[in-house]
Amino acid sequence: MKSAAYGLVVPTTIDEAIAALVEHGPDARLLAGGQSLMPLMAARVVRPSVVIDLGRVPGLTEIVHRDNHVAIGAMTTQRAVERSATVVQHVPLLALAVTRIAHATIRNRGTIGGSLAHADPTAEIPVTAVALEAVLVVVGPRGRREVAAAEFFVGPNRTLLEPGDVLVEVRFPTAGEMDRVAFEELSRRPGDVAAASAAVQLRLDADGRIARARVALGSVAPTPVRAHAAEAVLIGRLPSDELFAEAATAATAGLQPSSDLHATGAYRRHVAGVLVRRALASATGRPR
Ligand code: FAD
Repeated sequence: MKSAAYGLVVPTTIDEAIAALVEHGPDARLLAGGQSLMPLMAARVVRPSVVIDLGRVPGLTEIVHRDNHVAIGAMTTQRAVERSATVVQHVPLLALAVTRIAHATIRNRGTIGGSLAHADPTAEIPVTAVALEAVLVVVGPRGRREVAAAEFFVGPNRTLLEPGDVLVEVRFPTAGEMDRVAFEELSRRPGDVAAASAAVQLRLDADGRIARARVALGSVAPTPVRAHAAEAVLIGRLPSDELFAEAATAATAGLQPSSDLHATGAYRRHVAGVLVRRALASATGRPR
């Protein structure tokens, strides 16, 4: 199918983009890489009367390492994130996670901001943002504000973004020298939607004990889920297969994933536990 007819607005500043969003109201949609919006428009699942293309707004594609975080402009492509030496060095979990998104052709167009704003609970960037406690910078008619990733996602394809809001930047805390990371997911074929995913960042102390843990799961709930209970199990303990099994049980207790054509809820829950164990083992360099 082809999309319904729509008007195109091409702002050259954030203020112009916000003004266009306000002028056209709920019938308008921002366009980033178009890798989610365009298929939805072609299937006429969404029918915006106006599309506001962010592609000509300058300053939204930078990757900057500041004191304790890496700031990534919302229009930075997933491929640029994947290839960024700054991201690889300072946010290695994100560098790993983006390689699992679809295929290179999709990542050449898809943006980090588009993925976050689209808020697909199966997507790799949102679960990584929740795991790492990323901060999203939003500019709207009422000014600029910062939103914690854990609060940003409120349901499948639903976020805290309000009418007129533009996501302009996401800030990921930098990993330390003793941080170890792993991203595991299971899909039927490489590049397919994940039945479940697990993002892990562990900090080891000088004795090899786990001093800090970040664990989050994707595809098991309407939003990415931070596994606080699993993190509590891990803190202060030495890595072992038994510990990781205990953490996986804690991570999946209480989850009630829904079933769809990709996987049943029970299967997703089981796989999530396996992926948590694998990610913890991988992060700490233990044989799988
Ligand atoms: P767009 O499609 O342009 O926009 C998506 C939504 O976000 C729209 O509602 C738009 O209005 C809004 N939006 C965009 N930018 C902003 C902004 N700055 N501020 C506010 N709102 C904004 N994704 C995965 O994570 N994992 C996968 O495995 C995966 N597989 C895919 C396979 C295929 C075949 C395709 C076509 C896509 C796949 N995707 C996958 C989606 C892809 O990663 C998209 O790039 C991403 O979801 C959206 O990014 P985008 O830049 O293309 O956004």
